[in-house]
Amino acid sequence: MDLHFSPRELELASRGRDFCDQVLIPLELVADEHGELPMDRRDAVKQAVREWGLAGINHSKEHGGLGLTMTEQTVIEEQLGRVTNGLWSCVWRPPVSLKFGSQQQITEYLEPSCHGHRRGCFAITEADAGSDPRRVKTRAVKQGGKWVVTGEKWFVTSYNASDFVIVHAHVDDDPDKPTLFLVDKPNSSINHLRSPKFMHNFAFDHAELRLEGVELDESKVLGEIGQGLELTKDWFVEARLQIASHSLGAAIRAAEIANDYATQRHQFGRAIREFQGVEFMLADMAVEIFAAKSMLYRVAWEIDQGLDRKRVHAHASALKLYCSEVAGRVIDKALQVLGGRGYMRENPVERLYRDIRVDRIWEGTSEIQRVVVAGQIRKRGMELFSGWA
Ligand SMILES: Cc1cc2nc3c(=O)[nH]c(=O)nc-3n(C[C@H](O)[C@H](O)[C@H](O)COP(=O)(O)OP(=O)(O)OC[C@H]3O[C@@H](n4cnc5c(N)ncnc54)[C@H](O)[C@@H]3O)c2cc1C
Repeated sequence: MDLHFSPRELELASRGRDFCDQVLIPLELVADEHGELPMDRRDAVKQAVREWGLAGINHSKEHGGLGLTMTEQTVIEEQLGRVTNGLWSCVWRPPVSLKFGSQQQITEYLEPSCHGHRRGCFAITEADAGSDPRRVKTRAVKQGGKWVVTGEKWFVTSYNASDFVIVHAHVDDDPDKPTLFLVDKPNSSINHLRSPKFMHNFAFDHAELRLEGVELDESKVLGEIGQGLELTKDWFVEARLQIASHSLGAAIRAAEIANDYATQRHQFGRAIREFQGVEFMLADMAVEIFAAKSMLYRVAWEIDQGLDRKRVHAHASALKLYCSEVAGRVIDKALQVLGGRGYMRENPVERLYRDIRVDRIWEGTSEIQRVVVAGQIRKRGMELFSGWA
């Protein structure tokens, strides 16, 4: 068993950290005050992503990406998680489902997305369809040789920074035929209803859209009819790992800030870390981070080893559940160690506290991850989680 990072992984981690410190962290306050990353900053950040060699980290070289292993991607994502206001999403990560597209789709969508010339967002969720995608009402029907897509989508992240939307619709209203469609923007049949405000101030928006009979050629079907959920499952594994990495990075940053503060801050004639009530909080934070980090790199390693897809799927759910919940606990304690200063918006820990809450909700809530884990225990036994293979 070799648990060392390779020189390449260490280099990527330090590049990711420097990129965050020099490019993204200086933008945190302006993004928070403005509610999102101001338009006039976006091009410079995009250019920086390319210059730092971070464009298309999750795709193969063949498709215009960097060809990184999952462990290599994870060391970068962990660093990106340290940044507040969802600024990590400036480092684009084109949807994994695009790699299952036709050669034409790869050329038109995936390759330019890897280079940062195009950006796509993903629209599954609806007013009545969240955890249960079978309740999706967006429908696609064939009329006069064209697909006509109609429905309403909620929470479409990065819609205002995207120039195409991957829409999950049911062909002929049949929940057994979930299918992905590539919808280009601008499109006069997409009605942008609103972009509501959320607990976090994210780099981009989370839009609500109405698709009013969007007409599409056959070439805009991604994958096969009925394959929509299959393609999305692959995306979920990757997205769950990414969320776990971000949660861990966020928890580490908060813990580091709290640890430094506990040394500097004096009350009752001594550094507050000398009070056991404070130092025990630091100890609990460290232990939880230690466990989460060990789990994260084990699952990344399993993916790199090409372990069985279902096994990886179950482990990714356990990981996302654990890391997002650890981050909630660690950041809450960090804020407590900082006292009133931790409650100030100018303090990164306050922003991390708001930012991290959604990690227990999106890409499958904590309860849905428990449903996946419990189902796998039933099917494959406790060994799936307690064993080591
Ligand atoms: C900021 C933000 C950005 C998002 N971005 C996107 C995006 O880009 N694209 C997109 O398609 N979606 C996006 N989403 C949607 C997100 O994926 C959903 O919010 C999430 O899947 C949960 O769905 P829901 O909100 O409808 O909650 P519901 O599914 O209605 O769940 C409500 C509650 O019931 C619980 N629950 C539901 N089913 C079960 C069950 N079987 N067992 C136990 N408990 C259960 C849930 O855990 C939760 O506590 C985003 C959401 C947010 C908040």
